Amino acid sequence: MTTKVRLSPPVITPEDRKCVCAALECTKIVDGPAVGEFERAVAARLGGEGVALISGTAALHLALVAVGVGPSDLVAMPSLTFVAPAHVARYVGADPLLFDSEPNYRQLDADGLIAWLQEECESDGKIAIHTATRRRIGAIVSVDLLGHPCDIGLLADVARGMGIPVVEDAAQGFGATLRGRPVGAHADVTCLSFNANKIVTSGGGGMLLSKKAAVVERVRHLANQAKQDGPNYIHDEVGFNYRLPSAQAALGLAQFGRFDQILEEKARMAAFYEDALADIPGLTMPRRSPEATVSNWLFTVDVDPELFGHTAHGLMSLLAERHEVETRPIFTPLHMCGAYRGLQAGECPVAESLAATGLSLPSSVDISDEDLECVCEGIRSEAAGA
Ligand SMILES: *Cc1c(COP(=O)(O)O)cnc(C)c1O
Repeated sequence: MTTKVRLSPPVITPEDRKCVCAALECTKIVDGPAVGEFERAVAARLGGEGVALISGTAALHLALVAVGVGPSDLVAMPSLTFVAPAHVARYVGADPLLFDSEPNYRQLDADGLIAWLQEECESDGKIAIHTATRRRIGAIVSVDLLGHPCDIGLLADVARGMGIPVVEDAAQGFGATLRGRPVGAHADVTCLSFNANKIVTSGGGGMLLSKKAAVVERVRHLANQAKQDGPNYIHDEVGFNYRLPSAQAALGLAQFGRFDQILEEKARMAAFYEDALADIPGLTMPRRSPEATVSNWLFTVDVDPELFGHTAHGLMSLLAERHEVETRPIFTPLHMCGAYRGLQAGECPVAESLAATGLSLPSSVDISDEDLECVCEGIRSEAAGA
C-alpha cells in the first residue's frame, strides 16, 4: 500500500546538505566547530549551557546519572509518554514510577504528583523517601507531550524543597513557551531530541542543557568515555560514547538557523486543521493553555467514537486504507503493557482515556495545503453522517 501523506517526514534543504558536506570536509569530523556552535546556539535560546549528544535518550540517560539517580531509586514520570524516560531509569538501575495525566492539555498531572509527594513521601530537605517502601525518589522527569509545555512551576518548587532533582524531557516541546519563558525554565536539567521526526533534526541526536556548571561538566566527561586529560587512556569512572559527530551537529545547526520559520510553518499547519476540522461532530481540537505557546510537534485531535462514528484506531485504519494518509495514536500508557506494566503509583484513568481517543495527524514542517486538504477531506468523508 502506498502512502500519499506521511505523518512527519523530515525536511532537509539544499542548504542543510551544504552544511553537512562542509563539516565532513573539515579535518575534525569529531569535535569540529559545528558541535560547539550548535551547543551555544541552542543554549542561547533555552538558557544554561548545552552538551550535544548522540540522541535524546542519551541526554536523558546522562541527566539521570548526573543528578545522582542510582540503583533501587524511583523516578517519577507520566505514564502517557514516549518510552525513553522509563528506559533510562532502568539503565541506571532505578524503576520508573508512573503518574496520571491531566485532561486539558494531556500533560503530567503535576498536582496529583505533588499530593503524592506530600502524602506518601518524607524528606529531610536533602533526600526524599517513599515512606511505604523506603525507596528514594531519585528524580522527577516531566515531559512536554506532543509539543505543549508541561506546567511544572509548582511541582519544581515542591521537589526542590524535598531535595528531588527535576529533569524536563522537552524532546517534543522544543520551541514551546510557558508564561513567556521557554520550556526547561523550571528544571534542573533539560533534554532535547533531534531525531528524524522531531521539530529540528540532526538526522539523530540530542542535547542536554543545564544552568548547573557541575552537571554540564560531568555530562561532557561521561559522554566522552570518562576520559581524563592526556594521552594515557585513564578513565576515572564508567563512561559512555555519546558525543554527537560534527556532520550531525552541522545539520542540526543549519536547521536550528531557521527555527522560528519552522515554528511558524507548524503554527500554519495547526491553524489549517483547526479551521477545517473544528465543526466535525465528535472531533475535539487540541486545547492550549492561555499561558502557553506550543511547538505543534504533532497536531493531535480527540475522536469521540459515539459522535464521530469510529474510534481513533478505526479512523487511523480507514485513513490509511482509503485515503493513503498516515496517522497514529498517542503512545500507549507505559503502565498498560510491556516492560513497564503495573508500575503506576495509582490509577491512571485520564492517561488511558487520552490514549484511546487521541489521533495525531500529518504534521510535517513543509506539508502542503493540498496534503492538508487531503487529510481533512479523508476525515470528513469518514465522519458519521458524511
Ligand atoms: C523522541 C523522544 C525521545 C528520544 O529521543 P531520541 O533522540 O529518539 O533518542 C525522548 N523523549 C521524548 C518525549 C521523545 O519524543
